[in-house]
Amino acid sequence: MTATPNPILSLNYVPVLESLGDDYYDVVAAAEFPEQVLRFRNDAILQQLGLDSAAVSNDQLVAAFGKFQGREPLLALRYHGYQFGEYNPFLGDGRGFLYGQVRSEDGQIYDFGTKGSGTTPYSRGGDGRLTLKGGVREVLAAEALHAAGVRTSRTLCLVETGEALWRGDEPSPTRSSVMVRFSRSHIRFGTFERLDYLNRPDLIQKLLEHVIDVYYPSARLFTDPQERYAQFYAELVQRTAELVAQWMAAGFCHGVLNTDNMSITGESFDYGPYAFIDRYDRKFTAAYFDYARRYCFGNQPIICQWNLKGLQKPLKQVMSEATMESALADYKPCYEQHYQQLMLRKLGFDSLPEGEGTELVAQTLNLLENVEIGYHEFFAGLTAQFSPDWQANPEAIFSATLQASDAAAAAQLNDWRQTYHRALLSLAGEALEGVGDRLRHTNPQTVPLRPEIEAVWEPITVENDWQPFYDLVENIRQPFWD
Ligand code: AMP
Ligand code: MG
Repeated sequence: MTATPNPILSLNYVPVLESLGDDYYDVVAAAEFPEQVLRFRNDAILQQLGLDSAAVSNDQLVAAFGKFQGREPLLALRYHGYQFGEYNPFLGDGRGFLYGQVRSEDGQIYDFGTKGSGTTPYSRGGDGRLTLKGGVREVLAAEALHAAGVRTSRTLCLVETGEALWRGDEPSPTRSSVMVRFSRSHIRFGTFERLDYLNRPDLIQKLLEHVIDVYYPSARLFTDPQERYAQFYAELVQRTAELVAQWMAAGFCHGVLNTDNMSITGESFDYGPYAFIDRYDRKFTAAYFDYARRYCFGNQPIICQWNLKGLQKPLKQVMSEATMESALADYKPCYEQHYQQLMLRKLGFDSLPEGEGTELVAQTLNLLENVEIGYHEFFAGLTAQFSPDWQANPEAIFSATLQASDAAAAAQLNDWRQTYHRALLSLAGEALEGVGDRLRHTNPQTVPLRPEIEAVWEPITVENDWQPFYDLVENIRQPFWD
C-alpha cells in the first residue's frame, strides 16, 4: 500500500532564490525534535495556495513542518544588518531557513520561512529554537495586522516540538515550537548590506535584478537598468511609507526595526517583542532591551526613513545616489498622506475639505494623549456610539464615554467635539450614514493587546487549554462590526 502523497509537497515550488547560487545562502538541515503537535493551522493560506484545506491533515502539516520530511534543500539565508544603529556582520538565519518558495493561485511567489527549526552556521551560540509563546505571539500579531489591512507576513502553522528552553524573558523552562511564516520574501535590507560589506557589487546587481524580476513588476517594464533601479527604489520608498502609516494607524509598535527585519518588498514581518499600544503614547517602547527607546511607537516613521537611507549605501554601488535621494524626499509626504487618510477613516470620514481633515486628526491625537482612554478603546467606543443625531446635537458626541477630568481636559474635549461636529456638518443625508459604515468597517472590535495575549497564554501554560487562543484568533479574524 502506498501512502497518500502530502499535498504540501506537491505545491508549485519554484526555486527562484536557490537558482541565484550559493553566495546568498547555506544549505542546512532541520533539528530532530522529540515530539510534534500541531497547535495552529491557517486554512485561509492553504486555500490561497489552491489546496482544499480539508484534504490537508494535521499529520501532513506536521510531516512537512515538524519533521521536515521530503523537502530539500533547506536554505539558511545570509544577511547582515544595522541593529540599534550599529552594524552587525554576525547575523543570518540563525534559527530558521527558507523551506521553499511557491507560486500561488494569484501567480505571485511566496516564501515558507521557518522560525525555531534548529541551529545553522549563523546561530552564534544561540539554540536555534523559538519558544512556544513566541510562536503564539507571532501568530496573533500577523493575523491582527492582516485583519487591519496592514501588508504583512502571515503564519501558515505552528508546531509544538517538545523541548524545554531557557530564556531570560520568559519563566523557564519554557516550551518550544517551530513556526512557519508565509510571506512575500525573506530578502532584507540587510541582505544587500552584507554584499556591500563584502564589496561585491556584482552580487548586489544580481540580487537587485532578482528582486525587481519577482517583486517589482512596475520596474520590470523599464529596459534601461538605471531607470529600472530608480523605479524600484522609488517604489520601495512608497511601499515602506505606506506600511509605516498602516502600523501607526493600527496602533502597532513593531519593536525591533533593525535593517535585518526590513523586507525588500515593503512587507511587515518578524514579530518578536512587538505590542499594540494601549494608550496613545508616542514614547511607548515594545522591546524591554531598547533602553534608548530608539524603536518607540512614535519613532517608527523616522527610523524606517533612516533604514531606507542606509540601503542607499549598498545600492549606490550599482545606481545613482542622487536618484535615490530625490526618491527618498517623497517618503515623508507619502507617509503623511497615507497616515492622514487612514486616520480619517478611523474617524469615519473618507475625505474632508483640505485643512479640516488635518485639524481633526491632529486634535484627536492630542486628545488621546491627554484623556484617560486607550487608543483602540477610543475608536471602538466611537464606533459603538456613533449616531447620525450627533449632527444636530454636538453635546451628545461620544458623551457616554468621554468625560473630562479637569477644566483643561474639558476645554480640549469641547474643542474636539466642535471639530468633529464641523466635520459631520460638512456631510449631508446619505453621506452621514456612511460615517457609521466606515467606522464599523475600519475599527477592529478585538485587538490583541498584551493583557489579552497573556490571558490566552495562561490557560495554555497552566492546563494546556488552547481554546481561548483559538477564540481570540477567531475574533481577530472577524474584526469588524456587522
Ligand atoms: P530576531 O531578533 O529574531 O530578528 O533575530 C536577530 C538575529 O538573531 C537573527 O540573525 C536570528 O537568526 C538570531 N537569533 C535569534 N534568536 C536565536 C536563537 N535562539 N538561536 C540562534 N539564533 C538566534
Ligand atoms: Mg529578525
